[in-house]
Amino acid sequence: MSAKYIFVTGGVVSSLGKGLAAASIGCLLESRGISVNLMKFDPYLNVDPGTMSPFQHGEVFVTDDGAETDLDLGHYERFTHARLSRDNNWTTGRIYEQIIAKERRGDYLGKTVQVIPHVTNEIKSAMKKVAQDVDVCIVEIGGTVGDIESLPFIEAIRQMRQELGRENTLFVHVTLVPFIAAAQELKTKPTQHSVKELLSVGIQPDMLLCRTDRFLSKEIKSKIALFCNVEEEAVITAKDVDSIYEVPLVFSHERVDALALKYLHLSAKDRDLTQWEELVHRVYNPKDDVNIAIVGKYVEYEDSYKSLKEALIHGALAHNLRLQTSWIEAEGLEGGERACEEQLGHYDGILVPGGFGKRGIEGMLQAIGYARRNKVPYFGICLGMQTACIEVARSLAGLQKANSSEFDPATPHRVIYKLRELRGVEELGGTMRLGAWTCKIEPGTLAHRIYGKNEISERHRHRYEFNREYESMLTAAGLRISGATPDGTYVEIIELPDHPHFIGCQFHPEFKSKPLEPHPLFESFVAACYQNGQKRRTDKESADVEMFHRPIKVGGR
Ligand code: GLN
Repeated sequence: MSAKYIFVTGGVVSSLGKGLAAASIGCLLESRGISVNLMKFDPYLNVDPGTMSPFQHGEVFVTDDGAETDLDLGHYERFTHARLSRDNNWTTGRIYEQIIAKERRGDYLGKTVQVIPHVTNEIKSAMKKVAQDVDVCIVEIGGTVGDIESLPFIEAIRQMRQELGRENTLFVHVTLVPFIAAAQELKTKPTQHSVKELLSVGIQPDMLLCRTDRFLSKEIKSKIALFCNVEEEAVITAKDVDSIYEVPLVFSHERVDALALKYLHLSAKDRDLTQWEELVHRVYNPKDDVNIAIVGKYVEYEDSYKSLKEALIHGALAHNLRLQTSWIEAEGLEGGERACEEQLGHYDGILVPGGFGKRGIEGMLQAIGYARRNKVPYFGICLGMQTACIEVARSLAGLQKANSSEFDPATPHRVIYKLRELRGVEELGGTMRLGAWTCKIEPGTLAHRIYGKNEISERHRHRYEFNREYESMLTAAGLRISGATPDGTYVEIIELPDHPHFIGCQFHPEFKSKPLEPHPLFESFVAACYQNGQKRRTDKESADVEMFHRPIKVGGR
């Protein structure tokens, strides 16, 4: 049987959570035993988001096969069992790249190459490829209807309905139903306009996911149904929630999955959301808080570290804790110990995430030194692992000018240097060490205790690596290399054995963490942070008690 398709479009404004909606529909269908795959089309001309600024685009999510993709793919993987690859994310740029390469090869046999049918055909065949071997393929169209850029994608999904018929395709449109304070009313007009916009390009939506801050009454739903020509039961209240993991439950309550199955003529078993319900229960009933400082740049824009934040939440949920994070601007820590004590002193743990470029590095080094000396749990990811090596080189191995050639090309001690196979490569797009690589873990190390395995596979995205010429100096100073590629070429994990929890990895474990399968590195880091926080609080209490009992000297006696 060939796959059925659910197309998710968005209207009115961006940031309505189309990606989360698509992921949650996937989650619900899986809970009924339906197999799904998900994909996203991004209507911009960049070939991939790899070279875009994190401020413009947010996180670059990396798949096992090394594709640099949109962050919505992270949601797809966290909410479902779909295994995503470069086939699951297409930009206009990549579609055109493909077509122009074909045209140059002469594949079009002299024909005029046009948006319809050539571009739309390319889009449709990308969809069909991803839909192989699953019951339902969920296709998210990035952007907002009415954008000039998204037209070829919208046209392609219109053609898909034409080709495959109603029972094999479902149009879900995500819109906004705002509450206007001045009128004390929910307004349906933006949704009506958005549907009109879709109709003008030949698409009648079957289901409307209405983003709103309150439940839509029956009257509002029937008004929207009437004006937008959808069934009343298909007008869904997509109410704002505090935790993204509640979205599947909200949708199931509104019978989104039952309706999708009905429209697509699919029969399936009853849904089983026990694990999600249990997870959401933990989200709202934590036993305590854990406070973690994330030290980096781009910190004012949380979307640039989407997966990291989620992975920390997963780690906290595994211990029934609520994650409290603060993003600390690294540049503000350059003042040294005092600045660190002031800004980091009340956190249970410190994390330096991935990043690029020189800005903020000295502040990160200060934060790492502070964590090392004060036995505060430290977790360094990619750049955070490289900076940890630099800190150890400078502070423990006496190499005061140690650096990465990324930040100081003239450094006398290139503890971190350009990946050897990238020397001479000037092009920036897709040239990093990307995707899944195997790493061997040394028995008897913290990493081995955390993973409980000798071999792991993790995803990478970096251009610089640990320089093994400094290995003996740094290990003599106290650093332990606990993970490396099986052939020994790349150092993948480092740690400090005489510290309760100080670990850094060259890869990005956050890409593989899921709410129902928290990543061991995050789970163990959060546990160490919480323990440290508890200890600090007890130490402080006993210090206070001691102060209280100290005999007061009275003058003269
Ligand atoms: N800038 C560093 C490198 O390219 C770290 C990259 C990262 O943290 N993702 O190797």
